[in-house]
Amino acid sequence: MTRAEYDASMQIDPEKERRLHELVTVFLAENAKLNLTAFRTEETCWIGNILDSLSFLDIVSDFPDMKSLLDLGTGGGFPLLPLAIMLPDVICTGLDSMQKKIAAVERIVQQMSLQNVRCLLGRAEELGRSPQHREQYDVVTIRAVAELPILLEYAAAFVKVKGRIVVWKSMTIDKELQESLLARAELSCHLIAKHAYELSEGFGKRQLLIFEKTSPLLPKFPRGVGVPKKQPLK
Ligand code: SAH
Repeated sequence: MTRAEYDASMQIDPEKERRLHELVTVFLAENAKLNLTAFRTEETCWIGNILDSLSFLDIVSDFPDMKSLLDLGTGGGFPLLPLAIMLPDVICTGLDSMQKKIAAVERIVQQMSLQNVRCLLGRAEELGRSPQHREQYDVVTIRAVAELPILLEYAAAFVKVKGRIVVWKSMTIDKELQESLLARAELSCHLIAKHAYELSEGFGKRQLLIFEKTSPLLPKFPRGVGVPKKQPLK
């Protein structure tokens, strides 16, 4: 599928599509200074970052009451920024522990006058204990941050009870899913759906995993800074 065909199949509103292309330009200028992504050309950035982020739109009708979204480990702003452009009524918060990345996202947000984006600097293990953020978000998105047992511990701290965690993964994750059984039980996060999608130009097939958190998170989670990674729940 060519890029034009993919765009047509997604039926992106022309004004939003213009904003997405503007994002590529502004983001690549930041990237030249900071090395935020491996996708350095307009074409690869469009497919690998923008269209990959927008796979979320295939499932967005499952979240009719979504008012808030937290993108955990947003890095240079993916999937945060494309989703903020496409979903202007949702307050989209990007969290990252690296100051230079959050500063870059803030500059992009300012340059593009994105009104519905908030930026949050800090570790998930710490911010997930602050009453301002704990169990406050309808949806948590998370792409390329860690393996499931680790990322679920981070994400479960932020998502409301009955909220959803949406995880970007490759198609070869059977072992990782198997190894996340204990984490899913301890964190009350249940896998409710998988959504496979395909990107053009050799990017191939990928999937979104959708988890629902069914009970309040136990007070012992998330564990201290670095512990979820050093001693994953598995
Ligand atoms: N989601 C982006 C970036 C992925 S890189 C994308 O797909 O392009 C992973 C990011 O997660 C890094 O920027 C890193 O700083 C952040 N990160 C990793 N562990 C974290 C933690 N415990 N708390 C906050 N941010 C974390």
